[in-house]
Amino acid sequence: MSYIVTARKWRPQIFDDVVGQENITTTLKNSIAQNKIAHAYILTGTRGIGKTTTARIFAKAINCSNIENGNPCNKCRECVEINENKSLNVFEIDGASNNSVNDIREIKESVRYAPSSGKYKIYIIDEVHMLSISAFNALLKTLEEPPTHLVFIFATTEIHKIPATILSRCQRFDFRKNTIDEIVSRLEFISKAENIPIEKDALYLIAKKSDGSMRDSQVIFDQMIAISNGNITSEIVKKSLGIIELDFFFQLTDCIINKDIKSALTQLNTAIISGYNINILSQGLVEHFRNLLITSTIHSTELVETTNEYKEKYLELIKKFSENDIVRYLKIATEIDNSLKFSSLPRFRFELGIAQLIKMETSISIESILQKIEDIKKNSDLISSNIETQEKIFNIESDKKKESNNISDFLIKELKAVEIEK
Ligand SMILES: [Zn+2]
Repeated sequence: MSYIVTARKWRPQIFDDVVGQENITTTLKNSIAQNKIAHAYILTGTRGIGKTTTARIFAKAINCSNIENGNPCNKCRECVEINENKSLNVFEIDGASNNSVNDIREIKESVRYAPSSGKYKIYIIDEVHMLSISAFNALLKTLEEPPTHLVFIFATTEIHKIPATILSRCQRFDFRKNTIDEIVSRLEFISKAENIPIEKDALYLIAKKSDGSMRDSQVIFDQMIAISNGNITSEIVKKSLGIIELDFFFQLTDCIINKDIKSALTQLNTAIISGYNINILSQGLVEHFRNLLITSTIHSTELVETTNEYKEKYLELIKKFSENDIVRYLKIATEIDNSLKFSSLPRFRFELGIAQLIKMETSISIESILQKIEDIKKNSDLISSNIETQEKIFNIESDKKKESNNISDFLIKELKAVEIEK
């Protein structure tokens, strides 16, 4: 038996299995339940998050003769034919390779005829933004006066390229990226069902690498199955995907705190010798300071995508920096990352950047400046009150002196007078 890739084998067949797009799938299920089918839908969002999958499920549900809670049954003739790509009523068209006005004319010709069975003829046009302007114009005419049996489901990663005249005639659904947790739990489910041992941290790393795309995560998952010898460990994933451990960045921040350039450059050297690319290290550094800033700003790690162990570390680390300094570190890290693109000596540029971070003078918060001013004021009050006291003492003493001088003058006069009398 040939091996079926995970993304295909585990492609959701009903709305309830589509992960992370509940708002959209619920609306579509409701429209099926209420039999309110529009003539055109447009599904948009980044790649690999379930647009085409949802379009197929919706196409099945529209013509399914045995709807179950808004989901297609996957057993009736229509459902089975669509699943086997044999349906005469559902057409999947790749907009990238069928983008000419002639391609659209063919579609227009075909839509004139009612479906051979079922209620609707459904055209799923993937990557619809690739159509030429004249193709869009031809499409627009059909959208303006669609036959009652026609449904278009467009999918695109680039909604801004779709003419407004087309958009205004479509029901629009914006798909969101999958979260790390959603991807981890889906991969965990698949690995258990497939009896593939995989470490939780390894799942996590795969999810992170796939950047919110469920399909990408499953492609990476397949690669890891091929590379590993039965057991997928986080070590295997890190090595094969070139994922740098967060520990590296935490150690680097320790060097910043301790102003230890030597140790920072030694660590960097070790990472480079181990085969890590400067660009990946640089991007990791930007993300690290971003995580630090987010944690510091909202006093929580809920927006930081990492394991619980590292979340704890971020919560500890923010105690050692002011928010202002984290902003400045992030700014420098971003500048380093941008400048790498134009540098012929990326390693030297990155080393210079690390030195810049370590040499940066930490800022003093306004609160602490105000406190210092307050302290100085208190001290000066004390000094001035001391001066006043000393002045008083001096005055008293000089008064006493005057007095004693007067007395002595008086005595001298008296003595002189006595002597004269003698
Ligand atoms: Zn069915």
